[in-house]
This record gives sequence, C-alpha cells and structure tokens, in this order.
Amino acid sequence: MGGKKKEMDERLKRFGTVSFTATTKVNDFIDHLENGAVAGTRCKGCGERFFPPRADCATCLDSEMEWFPVDGKGKLLSFSQLQYAPVGFTEDVPYWIAVLDYGDYKVFGRIADGVAAEEIKVGMPMITRVNPLANGQINYVFEKA
Ligand SMILES: [Zn+2]
Repeated sequence: MGGKKKEMDERLKRFGTVSFTATTKVNDFIDHLENGAVAGTRCKGCGERFFPPRADCATCLDSEMEWFPVDGKGKLLSFSQLQYAPVGFTEDVPYWIAVLDYGDYKVFGRIADGVAAEEIKVGMPMITRVNPLANGQINYVFEKA
C-alpha cells in the first residue's frame, strides 16, 4: 500500500475546453499547468521522454517516471486547420492544430488564436505555453517563438 496515489482524481477535469476524463495516473500535469509549466514525463530507467505524459514507459515498461518542463523552442513539424470540430469545440472553428518537434519528443496541440494563418510555416520555431481559459479550464497553446 503506502503512498500510491488514488487513480480517480478530479484534477484532469480542468484540462482543455472540454473535460474528457477524470481517471489518470498523471494528474500532476494539471498542477504543473496551474504553476505555469507544460510538463511531460521522462523515464528514470531509460531516459525516454513522453508527451502527453505517461505513467509507465512505453520503451522499457519501467514505472519510475519524473516530470520535465516542455520549454524552449520546438520546430513546427505539421499543421492543419480544422473546419469541423468534435463536440465542445464547435464554436472554436476554424482553428489550427499542430505538432512541434522538440528533438527527442513531440507535442501535439493547438496554435494560439493570435497567430495569423499566413504566418504559420512548417519549420518555424514555436513555443508551448499555458493558456488559462475564460471558463476556468486550462490548456496549452503554441505561439511564435
Ligand atoms: Zn524507460
């Protein structure tokens, strides 16, 4: 027994425009967001880094993970404009989703509303930042670096 965290946890409900799940072993992700950091997990065994954060390493199956901040610049690998969106996001369209390459891990997410469409280019440097939403939810977005 001991200090194992309960897996049913309310915190992840605060992530994103719409809440998808309250069951996770990586709810500290929300604590990091609330402290201004987008964070992934790194395997203490083999060093593999994961984003979104994983509680168990997909490479060596170790469960000793530590948090690392997604900071510095990533390179825009791919992007796409959504004209149709899943339930909960329909009032946001059109918006851009993208993948940033940080070298040994990648981050999937949304480009900030303030970035003009004609500015978005594959290969451009971008940063990932925490984005508090008006409804009290919290997520992260990509900005020009
Ligand atoms: Zn590992």
